[in-house]
Amino acid sequence: MSKIKNIALLGSTGSIGTQTLEIVSKYPDRFKVIVLSAGSNAELLISQARIFKPDYASIADLTKYSLVKKNLTGTGIKVLAGNEELEHVITEEKIDLVVAAMVGYAGMKPVMTAVRAGKNIALANKETLVVAGELIMKVAGESGSKIIPVDSEHSAIFQCLAGENINAVDKIVLTASGGPFRGYSYEQLMKVTPAEALKHPRWDMGNKITVDSASLMNKGLEVIEAKWLFNLPPEKIEVIIHPQSIIHSLVYFYDGSVKAQMGVPDMKIPILYALSYPERLKSELKRLNLYEYNNLTFEKPDQKIFRNLPLAFDALRAGGNMPCILNAANEIAVRSFLEGKTGFLQMSDIVEHAMNKTPYIKDVTLETLEASDFESRQRAKDYLNKMSLHI
Ligand code: NDP
Repeated sequence: MSKIKNIALLGSTGSIGTQTLEIVSKYPDRFKVIVLSAGSNAELLISQARIFKPDYASIADLTKYSLVKKNLTGTGIKVLAGNEELEHVITEEKIDLVVAAMVGYAGMKPVMTAVRAGKNIALANKETLVVAGELIMKVAGESGSKIIPVDSEHSAIFQCLAGENINAVDKIVLTASGGPFRGYSYEQLMKVTPAEALKHPRWDMGNKITVDSASLMNKGLEVIEAKWLFNLPPEKIEVIIHPQSIIHSLVYFYDGSVKAQMGVPDMKIPILYALSYPERLKSELKRLNLYEYNNLTFEKPDQKIFRNLPLAFDALRAGGNMPCILNAANEIAVRSFLEGKTGFLQMSDIVEHAMNKTPYIKDVTLETLEASDFESRQRAKDYLNKMSLHI
């Protein structure tokens, strides 16, 4: 009988967080939630805490602390506010796995803290590796922390590489659904709205990643994430559009063999794999019936129109703080787009502007990355102000 895994779940109130809790609830003898952490959704955090009875419930938004505290009084659950206390408890001895499911740059510091403490990480928060992949993988190598991808594409590659020698890999191919605007012309994209961008044809996800998927920035971020997870140079990473989202990614080996990992598009499958790794647990999740998919198709991404993908490759090739700059400007661009202040295509202009204007630093530290993140956000905001698109 395997030992129960004690989990710290960061971003419990989001799309990945709630699906992680669905999985946990199906395997009470395998997983126990010790820490629940939310951004600002106090109501959902409170109800999750009442159900899962963690040791700690943490809320990043300080204005919601008293509400959470009041509602959990008498439950024995310790309520934490802000990130400092959270970073402390996720390094406690009893935590076996930290599930990083918060969105954006906010995830980077807690993940780094957990990695330093040698904790295993189930990583959904791709922005963490985009910003600080080099530092995090180096520290993980030293501390013995294992980073298990949750992203379906990276989970696919991770599974295809099991038992393989990375030196035998010719290339990896990340699949992309192409999002709701696949095949759109430049003129059509000039008119798309946030509501249209939020209607993803295959996946039900949080708002930021849904917009990133529509703009192909998500795939760009995943390319950078893949570089760090699998230690591959940019020229060995490709992207292909596969609208049915059945093949989650592929690995080409130098003997001519190709491995692909497949499954229905349901994030609970890679989440379960990351939670149970290195085991596999039986599940009732929907099975792939290939007869329902007799027309799997593949296309090249249109990199002239969807400029975020080549911008991400540029950032990856430049290295240093450039992926951090790309990520920070993109977070500003997506927020501005969602607020209706920026057009869909302008998001790439904002990112490109920040990449051109923020000083490049080759050898990064956490401090220089923090400064670059700040600087890039400022340059992105300058651009918005210049275009009279106040944010
Ligand atoms: P959501 O927007 O649905 O959820 C984000 C979570 O992060 C919420 O719990 C939110 O809390 C929390 N959060 C936001 N800001 C902060 C903060 N400053 N401090 C602490 N917590 C914060 O996002 P998703 O679940 O869709 O995505 C999460 C991550 O997983 C992203 O990096 C995404 O790219 C990645 N991912 C997601 C996939 C998906 O299918 N959704 C697939 C693959 C990767 P609250 O809501 O309480 O404010």
